[in-house]
Amino acid sequence: MTSILSPELVNGPFGDPTLFLDFRFERRALLFDLGDLAALAPRKILRLSDVFVSHAHMDHFAGFDRLLRLCLGRETAVRLYGPSGFIERVEHKLAGYIWNLVQNYATDFTLVAHELDGEQLRAARFRCHGRFRREPLPQRAAPQGVLLDEPGFRVRAAVLEHDVECLGFAFEEKVHVNVWKNRLLEMGLQAGPWLNELKRAVAEDAPDDTPVLAHWRDDAGEHQRRYSLGELKAKVLRLVPGQKLCYVTDVVYGEHNARRIASLASGADVLFIECVFLQQDAEHAARKFHLTARQAGLLARAAGAKLVEPFHFSPRYTEREAELRAELEQARGGG
Ligand SMILES: [Zn+2]
Repeated sequence: MTSILSPELVNGPFGDPTLFLDFRFERRALLFDLGDLAALAPRKILRLSDVFVSHAHMDHFAGFDRLLRLCLGRETAVRLYGPSGFIERVEHKLAGYIWNLVQNYATDFTLVAHELDGEQLRAARFRCHGRFRREPLPQRAAPQGVLLDEPGFRVRAAVLEHDVECLGFAFEEKVHVNVWKNRLLEMGLQAGPWLNELKRAVAEDAPDDTPVLAHWRDDAGEHQRRYSLGELKAKVLRLVPGQKLCYVTDVVYGEHNARRIASLASGADVLFIECVFLQQDAEHAARKFHLTARQAGLLARAAGAKLVEPFHFSPRYTEREAELRAELEQARGGG
């Protein structure tokens, strides 16, 4: 994926579903599902700004404690998003500990939990200095399930069926800005965090005469040069449509889900989709409200996804991963 992001299945295709999305050159990351986080380095967990939880089955939510423990004592905030009833689950998790001393901490780590109910997004805040008691926040409209809308990207959710409500997610970049590295060098410039500011200005559609400061540091010291946005756009940038990445897991195969997944994942550059059982175990899959590899392949084909990354393989197929992948690829028409 030649994007500002690098997606990583934290626990591989057989472990707890958890997808880490890192922003290059930015101290920021997103997480889709909050399963076991033991395999994720603390410095990466501390970059999380937003965590999207499909549903509160343990394998998707058991990493909450590790996130909380690492963030506690830091001056940061993490936003969590989940299906209807999610705020209460976060509240109960926090109520499982005694918080008699945290109001005196120097920092005020804050969790903001959101839950999607139809096209409304409810929210509540839990602050360290408030001993993590629930503080209501105003709810807002979430047309088309949009949970997060920023200058560079947005994240949308669709409500899917897994016996319980389960959210599928689409991450959509607005414009993708590539940097011609060789032209940068020709101009005597070097890469660095300033490129992020440049990309952000482009994403926000700033006027061409907007001043941009190229600044970086090397062995010879600190360097600064001023340009106009228009000049840098013409000389070192190439604008391409943004990437779309989707995350769909824990869904039963049926018409309702098929329709919603096709719309959510339509034209996705990468579709992460659960692939729990082989088709030969389709009855068992239906009883567990999960997909087979063949069903996942059919859904990916209907969505027109360009690349498919299967995950959430049942441990019963530890020795048969190749069969799961082959069945998926066959159903989506050989990729
Ligand atoms: Zn589940």
